[in-house]
Amino acid sequence: MTPNPQPTYKGSCLCKAIQYTITGTPLTTVLCHCTNCKKSSGSSFQANLFFKKDCLNFQSGQDKLSTYADAATDSGGIPHRSFCSVCGSNILSTNDSHDLVKDLVIITSGCLDGWPTGEGEKEFRPVQEYYCKRKVEWVRVLGETKEFEGMT
Ligand SMILES: [Zn+2]
Ligand SMILES: [Zn+2]
Repeated sequence: MTPNPQPTYKGSCLCKAIQYTITGTPLTTVLCHCTNCKKSSGSSFQANLFFKKDCLNFQSGQDKLSTYADAATDSGGIPHRSFCSVCGSNILSTNDSHDLVKDLVIITSGCLDGWPTGEGEKEFRPVQEYYCKRKVEWVRVLGETKEFEGMT
């Protein structure tokens, strides 16, 4: 099977009001263990996929997106976290205050609906972990990830 160089993935929030596609392969795949990602996700870490901003297209519900400017980070950056105002699913974040990611959109992998190429599960395996100093004890080493104490 020849891999599709520009796969398109569909994503949606829990209530399906927000539906989007993301085209291309992620630049990187990250588990973030920072306190703010824990709060924001309501879980023990957040699984994030980094894409160029122009990879993202909304099919519906963009008006349902609420955005929170998260100024209480210890990196000093201000990520903008966007979530569905109806069901609360975390959809994406952006961070214009950080040079490395200002052209990127960070998509939560849990809101993706599947992968037409069949390769997505492999592609979305995290390759990096941020804020390992905040990693909860029972989250074990995943294998092939590169671990960072903080964001870098
Ligand atoms: Zn929703
Ligand atoms: Zn984080």
